[in-house]
Amino acid sequence: MLVVRGAVKNYDWGITDGLAPWAGEHPGGTQAELWFGVHPGGPSPLVDAEGDETGEVLADRFDIAAIPLLVKLLAAARPLSVQVHPQLSVAAAGWAAQQTPGAPLVLSDPFEKTEMLVALGPFEAFAGWRDREQVLSMLAALGGAQEAARRLVADDLGGAVGALLAIGTNERIALLAVAASTAGLAPDQIAAYRTVAENYPDDQGALVTVLLDYVSLCAGEAIYVPAGVPHSYIRGIGLEVMTSSDNVIRLGLTRKPVFADRAIAALRPDLDPQIVRAVHGDILWPVNSPFVVRMLTEGEERIPMGAYRILLLIKGTARVVSDAAEISLRRGTAAVMAANDPDAYVEADGLVAIIQSTER
Ligand SMILES: [Zn+2]
Repeated sequence: MLVVRGAVKNYDWGITDGLAPWAGEHPGGTQAELWFGVHPGGPSPLVDAEGDETGEVLADRFDIAAIPLLVKLLAAARPLSVQVHPQLSVAAAGWAAQQTPGAPLVLSDPFEKTEMLVALGPFEAFAGWRDREQVLSMLAALGGAQEAARRLVADDLGGAVGALLAIGTNERIALLAVAASTAGLAPDQIAAYRTVAENYPDDQGALVTVLLDYVSLCAGEAIYVPAGVPHSYIRGIGLEVMTSSDNVIRLGLTRKPVFADRAIAALRPDLDPQIVRAVHGDILWPVNSPFVVRMLTEGEERIPMGAYRILLLIKGTARVVSDAAEISLRRGTAAVMAANDPDAYVEADGLVAIIQSTER
């Protein structure tokens, strides 16, 4: 059993000091993500019993095969990019093609990225495909979107994305909230479109959000996003669990490179996100998911060997005991156990996220 703290990412969409309770630092600037894992994009430092960094990172002790999951705390003040993550076949082929000198660098690794966002407070997202009638009403109000409407009616969702990217002018982006209102959407959705237009007034990809469903989560609820499902997290603080990959192919709402054709090719219009509400009080277990998450507030729990396990203290106190070690977690630190590490027991008073890999 090893203990890590998160590697901080200061992306510009983060919240000022938004992750300070878990990062252990108050920089006075944006904090967007804390990474717990072995991905080279954000290697997690190992810490000792006092919470001080030892100078090593988790990846010095384990390779990516032993640590199949990446866990993040995420704080979003404004919408993240409209994005899609590749399935394994798409990632493997894209990664191989990218090894040719001069090829565009689209992917970060050859792995699938499937993710789940667990809300730690109110959290809003665009994810999956919006009801078709609603989209058609919004498109009519935006004007000039006949091609996108035609593609949508023909069940060509990738074509509809492409058509919207082609007409994403400032004038139409400024109409997003009006179009949402005309389509009869609820006030929180109209506000979300206003947020998109205010933050990205000249981002061609802003209109793609018209195609996406709106999801509002309360603390403890989660959304599972299989690879191939388009999404954009709008705002909130959450725990994100994913396969150990940083493959993000963007369609808009970003200053980072957009690879529209590659993103459209990675779409899986037949897949939907799952809204996951806890069963038995605290277990979040999406269908066909490579992981299961338990949000334990109090009591003792056995965490058996045989799977990768990471226990992240969100608030309060937690003690983790096994034959090999006994650890009191500090807020924002996580105990990490490989599949062949012995059974462990966690005793929690507060909130600890227990994440385990599963066989698919
Ligand atoms: Zn994502």
